[in-house]
Amino acid sequence: MNKAEFSEQFSDAILIGSGIMSSTLGVLLKQLAPDLNITVLEAADHLSPEASDGWHNAGTGHAGLCELSYTPDRHADGRVNVSKAIDVFQEFEMSLQFWAHGVEAGILKAPTTFINPVAHVSFVRSAEQVAFLRSRHEQLSAHHFFADMEFSDERDKISAWAPLLTEGRPAEPIAATRVAGGTDVDFGAIARQLLDWLDAQEGCEVCPACRVTNLQRTPTESWRATCHDRLRGSTRSVTAPFVFVGAGGGSLHLLQKADLPDAQGLGGFPVGGQWLVCDDPEIVEKHDAKVYGQALGAAPTMAVPHLDTRVIDGKRSLLFGPFASWTTKFLHEQGRWTDLPRSIKWHNLPSLLRVGAGNLDLIRYLMQQGTQSMADRMAALREFYPSAQPEDWRLEDAGIRVQAIKKSDGKAGIVHYGTEVLTSADNTMAALLGASPGASTSVQIVLDVIARCRPDLLVDGRQQNRLRQILPSYGVDLRTPESATQFSLWARATRKQLALPH
Ligand SMILES: Cc1cc2nc3c(=O)[nH]c(=O)nc-3n(C[C@H](O)[C@H](O)[C@H](O)COP(=O)(O)OP(=O)(O)OC[C@H]3O[C@@H](n4cnc5c(N)ncnc54)[C@H](O)[C@@H]3O)c2cc1C
Repeated sequence: MNKAEFSEQFSDAILIGSGIMSSTLGVLLKQLAPDLNITVLEAADHLSPEASDGWHNAGTGHAGLCELSYTPDRHADGRVNVSKAIDVFQEFEMSLQFWAHGVEAGILKAPTTFINPVAHVSFVRSAEQVAFLRSRHEQLSAHHFFADMEFSDERDKISAWAPLLTEGRPAEPIAATRVAGGTDVDFGAIARQLLDWLDAQEGCEVCPACRVTNLQRTPTESWRATCHDRLRGSTRSVTAPFVFVGAGGGSLHLLQKADLPDAQGLGGFPVGGQWLVCDDPEIVEKHDAKVYGQALGAAPTMAVPHLDTRVIDGKRSLLFGPFASWTTKFLHEQGRWTDLPRSIKWHNLPSLLRVGAGNLDLIRYLMQQGTQSMADRMAALREFYPSAQPEDWRLEDAGIRVQAIKKSDGKAGIVHYGTEVLTSADNTMAALLGASPGASTSVQIVLDVIARCRPDLLVDGRQQNRLRQILPSYGVDLRTPESATQFSLWARATRKQLALPH
């Protein structure tokens, strides 16, 4: 097939975007149905440059090990409710199994190119927060997922886990939990490796520099994506019975083009991000952890500060943030300042105004964050690392999250921080909006998409067997006490394959 000859093309599935979501869906579909023709269309000249790129997210393998925002509620008797942390752990386990299979099958390269062991630590200050963390630890460590979680309110112990936290810190009540088996993940590297494999498969094509400008139904109930192909300097169209809009911040505009009834009233609210980054080997060497604290003031859950070890392209650095920033762009590289105004339609204006009126604290928080100086940012960093010096840190842009705003929320004016999967009534289209916990749970998210849009790929006994080769625990609830033994067997095998402590 001469790729250059095409201006009109037919495929079995169009995947828009080259981030972790489309790449994971593409490989899973091809593994389940090797005959499928799949076309991936990416606006940028290179693959996965937006939210999935290494520096555009925090690279935390979210498994509920350290994120205090997953345990905000308490039971009636005062115990911390840890059910969300348990759910996220199970979802991340699916991702680990998929990546382990990828390595075994030669789809992914050596594990250290995309996943590295980094301890996950939760860190709190004040007597009240210490009591909260102790209760959280009691609840979590009673579950087999978190049996290895350690707690300490002793300065020396915390210092041994993460020396920067205590260096220069005055006497005050502090506590931390630590799980040695946490991870740092380069989701961009995974997406690019998955897509390299997909592009080499019969009937599949990954097309960078192809921005989808229109998405419409055809008279035969298929979808036609029209895109501008910058490499060929031409317009081309791809038609398929199934389309996945994994365009991150670009998804909302495409849904509006597709004129989906469910997208009526849907709006987007972009929140930019920035990190402080340190490359000084002496400081980097001292910290080997992802340390999550509590959300400050009106900060949304995804703006909870953390001090992280990152491993990108084999190089270790430290990252602190995120600092939220005010933007009207929906994408970092491919976005335009007109993205937000262009997304406002008569049908979503009421929802957007409701959100504006109902979230004044959030708006004030974003404005305050957006006007921060380096001194303000260093003050936030010193809450974690009291001895931090400005000359060791530089500011880097993170990705942009476009939070979904839905009409169905009535008067509530809710900003959705989670990932929203939207499907057309006939399930021929699926789209992702929102970001958290995002990349870590990409495998569970795309399994849900397949279950809704291509259930035929999951029912057949042969395909179920195939799925269990890829995801051994598929269909098993690992959360129950009865699954504990089986879980530890699978977990050990998965981590061994991924060169993680096991
Ligand atoms: C600051 C920040 C920190 C985060 N931290 C974490 C974390 O620690 N752990 C975690 O698990 N998750 C984290 N996330 C969430 C995670 O990054 C996202 O959930 C995930 O990367 C989304 O992947 P995606 O494939 O949907 O989107 P993206 O990676 O954004 O990919 C979308 C792609 O679509 C392309 N595109 C857009 N419009 C078009 C168009 N019209 N035509 C063709 N292509 C188009 C874009 O160029 C882009 O390549 C974080 C996100 C942010 C912003």
